[in-house]
Amino acid sequence: MHADLIIVGAGMVGSTLALALKDSGLNILLIDGSPLSVAPFNREQGFEPRVSALSIASQRILERVNAWPSILKRRTSPYRDMHVWDGSGTGKIHFSASSVHADTLGHIVENRIVQDALLEQLHESEIGLLAHSKVEQLRRSGDGWLVQLEDGSELRSPLLIAADGANSAVRRLAGCATREWDYLHHAIVTSVRCEKPHQYTAWQRFTDEGPLALLPLQHNDGKNWCSIVWSVPAEQAEQIMALDDNDFCTALGQACEQRLGNIEHADPRYSIALRQRHAKRYVEPGLALIGDAAHTIHPLAGQGVNLGFLDAAVLAEVLLSALKRGENIASERVLSRFERRRMPHNLAMMAAMEGFQHLFQADALPLRWLRNSGLNAVNNLSEAKALFIRQALGLGIDLPDLAKA
Ligand SMILES: Cc1cc2nc3c(=O)[nH]c(=O)nc-3n(C[C@H](O)[C@H](O)[C@H](O)COP(=O)(O)OP(=O)(O)OC[C@H]3O[C@@H](n4cnc5c(N)ncnc54)[C@H](O)[C@@H]3O)c2cc1C
Repeated sequence: MHADLIIVGAGMVGSTLALALKDSGLNILLIDGSPLSVAPFNREQGFEPRVSALSIASQRILERVNAWPSILKRRTSPYRDMHVWDGSGTGKIHFSASSVHADTLGHIVENRIVQDALLEQLHESEIGLLAHSKVEQLRRSGDGWLVQLEDGSELRSPLLIAADGANSAVRRLAGCATREWDYLHHAIVTSVRCEKPHQYTAWQRFTDEGPLALLPLQHNDGKNWCSIVWSVPAEQAEQIMALDDNDFCTALGQACEQRLGNIEHADPRYSIALRQRHAKRYVEPGLALIGDAAHTIHPLAGQGVNLGFLDAAVLAEVLLSALKRGENIASERVLSRFERRRMPHNLAMMAAMEGFQHLFQADALPLRWLRNSGLNAVNNLSEAKALFIRQALGLGIDLPDLAKA
């Protein structure tokens, strides 16, 4: 089988890229190892453990590819405020949407819901979808690629996009170099019911062990649900995972200083090893890496998929304008335009997260002083805060057309 463009990985990022290119006239093939089926949804069902805090820029991109109405129809929770505080000091900072005349800072959405809304659009489009198709081998052939799937079938294309996630097989098979390191931390994720309302606020406490986030969820049972991302050293994660439900709720309540009262219930927990990765280059002739295949970042800022959506939107814009000019979209000259626009922003976000991570894990007194006085200083500076908020909204950068108002 031959296609003008093969996207490997129909996760949130690969699916968005395919939809952004659906009217390009290109013969596109989107392939994934999973069934690519849309799960039935009812509002009574429990929460998926994996959620994302989507920025305004991501919301706009999802609106442009027509997935946002379906997301709203299912379930999302806006968050209007963010409280961040230092668990071992006095530093705190409060961001609010109203201070920049916005309605929200973003939305918390279960990943499965975003994925299904995108899949619905894909199934209605002309884009070629290959489900249950895992890429196993890859090699250059003539001017393009020969992609071999697990079942032995072969696909050919001059342009391959790797959107196959953090452990990208395409990145590995194509021999793309990465810088990576282990945070030696695990993120424990689950949904919990709290005694007090979440007030549509994202709560984040930095402790010596790592950050703990409680993100607001909305259920039609009227109860106070939050999604948690609790980053701790690997051995502590093991201990927390071994607790029974009651002890887990007590430990979590203490770790978040009972901000939302007692933790009354916790869904099953999952522990995810955290690793930072960054591909040294996002492109080479006939190949581009996007989303987690290009970069994985600490979840403390909730930015991973937001960066991935911007990758997809910028790459779509670059390819569409090259097509208009009659250029070869598989050429390194064209693909480098994508890399030039996205790499500095992704690197800056990763460096900022690294800085936060080190600052908040530091025991040294000057660093403790710096983070407490720094947080409080920013909290008292409305202009600096507005700048931070624009970053959180995903609006502080050179935006692709798909993410513009
Ligand atoms: C604990 C935690 C919390 C997070 N919270 C946030 C948040 O609040 N906000 C945020 O923006 N980000 C967050 N992230 C990051 C976010 O989840 C990721 O950035 C995002 O899921 C990456 O999407 P993707 O489409 O690039 O990759 P994936 O979602 O990993 O999709 C990859 C796809 O490729 C397919 N695939 C893989 N290998 C193959 C193969 N060989 N052949 C064919 N198909 C293949 C898979 O089946 C999958 O469908 C968080 C991450 C973690 C770990």
